[in-house]
Amino acid sequence: LVVCGAPVRADAGPAPYLDARLSVADRVSDLLGRMSLADKLGQMTQPERRYITPDEVTRYRIGSVLSSGGSAPSPNTAKSWADMYDGWQRAALAAPLRVPMMYGVDAVHGHNTVVGATIFPHNIGLGASRDPELVRRIGAATAEEMAGTGVDWDFAPCVCVARNDRWGRTYESFGEVPELPTMMTTVVDGLQGEELGGPASVLATAKHFVGDGGTAGGGDRGDTRISEEELRAVHLPPFQAAVKRGVGSVMVSYSSWNGLKMHENRYLISDVLKRELGFGGFVVSDYNGIDQIDGESGFSRGEVVAAVNAGIDMVMVPTEWRRFITYLGDAVRGGDVSMSRIDDANRRILTKKFELGLFERPMADRSYLKTVGSAAHRELARKAVAESQVVLKNEDDVLPLDGDKFFVAGRSANDVGMQSGGWTITWQGEPGPITPGTTILDGIRKAAGSGATVSYSRDGVGLDDSYDAAIVVVGEKPYAEYHGDRTGDLGLDAGDLATIDRLRDADVPVVVVLVSGRPLDIAKQLPQWDALVEAWLPGTEGGGVADVLFGEAEPKGRLPVTWMRDGGQEPINKGDGKTPLFPFGYGLTFE
Ligand code: BGC
Repeated sequence: LVVCGAPVRADAGPAPYLDARLSVADRVSDLLGRMSLADKLGQMTQPERRYITPDEVTRYRIGSVLSSGGSAPSPNTAKSWADMYDGWQRAALAAPLRVPMMYGVDAVHGHNTVVGATIFPHNIGLGASRDPELVRRIGAATAEEMAGTGVDWDFAPCVCVARNDRWGRTYESFGEVPELPTMMTTVVDGLQGEELGGPASVLATAKHFVGDGGTAGGGDRGDTRISEEELRAVHLPPFQAAVKRGVGSVMVSYSSWNGLKMHENRYLISDVLKRELGFGGFVVSDYNGIDQIDGESGFSRGEVVAAVNAGIDMVMVPTEWRRFITYLGDAVRGGDVSMSRIDDANRRILTKKFELGLFERPMADRSYLKTVGSAAHRELARKAVAESQVVLKNEDDVLPLDGDKFFVAGRSANDVGMQSGGWTITWQGEPGPITPGTTILDGIRKAAGSGATVSYSRDGVGLDDSYDAAIVVVGEKPYAEYHGDRTGDLGLDAGDLATIDRLRDADVPVVVVLVSGRPLDIAKQLPQWDALVEAWLPGTEGGGVADVLFGEAEPKGRLPVTWMRDGGQEPINKGDGKTPLFPFGYGLTFE
């Protein structure tokens, strides 16, 4: 590998690209003119931190490093994140041209890979709130927590339109109609701030382009078999809105459109997204996404050529980044990828780096460290939890709860991991006290008041009927991506059903709270329940569920998805003529 690049000459004063008084366009042009092919290939490469060393970041002029959920090698605290970030940044700045790197993470419901960060409800709950200003504020809070740890690039928001509840990423969607994710692109304003480079501003990513939520059968990474007209009507509008708000990057979807992998779809990436929608930022591949183009494992030179020529500017190539650089360099020299394509990709990436102010302020700004998990952010999250609750049944006005003796049951009642879902600390998330937070049970205890008796039995054994109500909190275990695909039934699992069954003959009202990433098939059980609240995946401030149960907050949530009668109705969407259990937009109030 030849690594040269015209050095910055000390005697000539700082090179124009280092002069913050010049326009970004001029700085980019000046810098591009100094870069070797090796410099340019490095900018387009994004390895995962487990598979690269700081020395290699310097040597290969790497443009960005990522950590995917759960890959933190060091103590996962906010402070050590900032130290880690600075370490990578020093490595990038040690190369002759001193081009800063960007560090990317999936902060998809708060800065969720960091222990102690505020975890907000997953998008589906925010879609239920119908509150775009709340979502903007959540974006801003997330950006502050990220800024405190140095991280400057967020692979969020997911603006997918989830059309089939079988899909394991349904909870990452704001809803099944394009209007909801479109409305919630305010999160881009929150993350990036008024302009990139302002206080606590991080680069946002609209993902996954395009049609990820529309695959046949709801399979993750599947094939979206619909007409162009439908693709444009259902799946494109949120991207259009995100582009209008100046989103800095767009991530390509693993899925295909009518059999063609999105990672090689030049028409949609280059013609539609970049030209027609006028997207001025850069396009990033999904994690190893180029590897899936030809269906063979391990990526080939042909896949690299196809992806870059389709318009992908930066490739998330976690492990085999050296091979990627070799193949791409070879393809440029062999004429399969034009130098102008490489320059265009670099121009797009560098523009965002300049706009973010990274050349002037490359290091973590620890002044924001104190915002990580702060009281103000937790209060915002709690408000979001309350606003996202959807009351689906309330026989005899059992809600809001009143009384002084409550029985709480269910494996999701007292578990921060369960209530936070996937993408929490680790990729898949997991049950247990994985990060500080307030459980639903904590919230119930507080709301019931110090004079009340609240007893808790995880599996529902031991109810005596002198209680005022039994509250059962059940739902889904955490999962992410294809691990959450459900091809069989969409019902509660056997353990949860057994817990509920123990309360079948209770003489007190039974209130069921579902902690789930999507509607579940509960039609058979519903008649036995007096009240039903869908809590979605509320995050660390799950205590906010109790604010609604006890009437401290009005229920405002409305279903962002249609609720099927049984799994056989999937896909079921607003306006398709099927008779659901609860229609899109449904939600009761206490008035
Ligand atoms: C997911 C993306 C995510 C990326 C990086 C992929 O598996 O599809 O949504 O941004 O990993 O973690």
